[in-house]
Amino acid sequence: MVLKLRVGFFIAWIIPYVFLVCYNIGFFTYIITNAKGLNEINRMGIFVFMWFVFSLVLVFGAIRIIQWYKQGKFHIAHPSPNQETESVEPKAAEKRLSSVPDVPSCLGCRLANGLEEAHVVFENDYVTCLLDIDPLNEGHTLILPKRHFVELADTDISARHAIMNASVRISNALKMIYKPDGISIMQNGGSFNDLGHYHMHVFPRYNNDGFGWKEPAVKSRHSLDVVKQRIAEQLKDGMPQL
Ligand SMILES: [Zn+2]
Repeated sequence: MVLKLRVGFFIAWIIPYVFLVCYNIGFFTYIITNAKGLNEINRMGIFVFMWFVFSLVLVFGAIRIIQWYKQGKFHIAHPSPNQETESVEPKAAEKRLSSVPDVPSCLGCRLANGLEEAHVVFENDYVTCLLDIDPLNEGHTLILPKRHFVELADTDISARHAIMNASVRISNALKMIYKPDGISIMQNGGSFNDLGHYHMHVFPRYNNDGFGWKEPAVKSRHSLDVVKQRIAEQLKDGMPQL
């Protein structure tokens, strides 16, 4: 194990402390060299008192820093580059590594499981509801399952129930707080899912708030009868029973 100096800790505490000690020595020198003048204006007592209080603070600071040094807070342990000279037993080293929680690469997983800073408004065992960082309207909330799912079809039955229940709770809360003209609930899949983790949007809506459908440039080529028949047959024959 190699001990390395924690540079940030050193800069934050040791350098300011040394600076304050120098300042205190300078202050003491000033009092000594100007003792006669300070006595004449009757300020000697207050200057000595200030120096004494400042010195006490420095003494307590020194005691604290020595305690930190003994506790090893000034250094951080790094694994030795030469494993053969490592004195830690392999089993103990493995145990230490296994105690470090896995950090998922998916941002949605990290957000839903408290591994990223977020404004969480509600959570339970299955979902976390947090504020969108770029809200369409104030109160814009995202519902994320705690397990990693990308598409709606990937979600398990527990997550689906939890997501829908959460959408009702969030909607009711937003209605009570903002008295909107309506609530919109939205979920984007495939290449329109910018998080790569399933999430449902719930946000308050107001008449003329500027948000709305944007019509595609090319509309459906088939009649509703044809489309209905196509989807109904797919649902009847080709879909796994969920
Ligand atoms: Zn995820």
